[in-house]
Amino acid sequence: MPWIKQEMCTGCRLCIKECPVDAIAMNGSGFATIDEHECIRCGRCHDVCPQDAVRHDSERIGQEIAENLRWVRRLLGHFREPEEQAAFMERMARFFKKQEKVSARTLTVIAEAKGDPGKFIDAAIEECSDNHAPDSSKG
Ligand code: SF4
Ligand code: SF4
Repeated sequence: MPWIKQEMCTGCRLCIKECPVDAIAMNGSGFATIDEHECIRCGRCHDVCPQDAVRHDSERIGQEIAENLRWVRRLLGHFREPEEQAAFMERMARFFKKQEKVSARTLTVIAEAKGDPGKFIDAAIEECSDNHAPDSSKG
């Protein structure tokens, strides 16, 4: 999803006026910010911004990896013994593998949701709800 690079934002509010779902607001520092759960990825804010401050999601990959690793590094500090640290790292690896499976299955559903995507997604939600593990043979 788009995001706003605060160093480049002048607070002109053009993107706020353009957003069809009111997903952009000014923060306390006078910069625009996007509510990622409300944003429908229409791209209008990107097109209208005169400062090129609305950036593409792919630019944040490195930043998000660094955030993950900072989190792991901080928690690792609670363990002193090498065996404890190794066990912790295995648990974190399991956590991120789970995240990988969640992303992979979500991507599969999105890719397969053709024709009537809403209906297809509703069926997939039903299948995955109530803690039922998705069929791993489906990807
Ligand atoms: S249009 Fe660009 S510069 Fe203006 S408030 Fe939005 S992000 Fe900031
Ligand atoms: S991409 Fe569209 S919906 Fe999302 S914040 Fe920009 S204008 Fe709003």
